[in-house]
Amino acid sequence: MNQQTWYCADCGGREIHHDAAVKWNPANQEYDVVTVHDGTTCTTCAGAPDNFKPYAGSPVFGIPPEPADTVKVQLALTVEYTPNGCSTESLVELLSGVASSAAMAGQLTGESPAEVAEWTSTVAVLQAQ
Ligand SMILES: [Zn+2]
Repeated sequence: MNQQTWYCADCGGREIHHDAAVKWNPANQEYDVVTVHDGTTCTTCAGAPDNFKPYAGSPVFGIPPEPADTVKVQLALTVEYTPNGCSTESLVELLSGVASSAAMAGQLTGESPAEVAEWTSTVAVLQAQ
């Protein structure tokens, strides 16, 4: 369905925040929107919460272009540890860090022109001690 919505003309993101005035509603115990202002932020372009850049991206209202074709690829890495006193939790944390480090170092795309649309990682204990 091609419905008009807010999207980012830079990255295609659909998570757009709008500046607004709100007032507290004691009956509902939540904020009510009074009015929506012009300021917008693409939360994808704005970056991580600890380095959030307000008004990032180019939010526009319209029919977003169809998303580009994507391909989903999965890496399965199985490690059998001799823990030597390390807890299973700490070993799970180590493997989780491998995925994060690779993503942060740009190793998911390397020197290729490919772009990462989304990545997730899951670490599971296959055989407990
Ligand atoms: Zn964006």
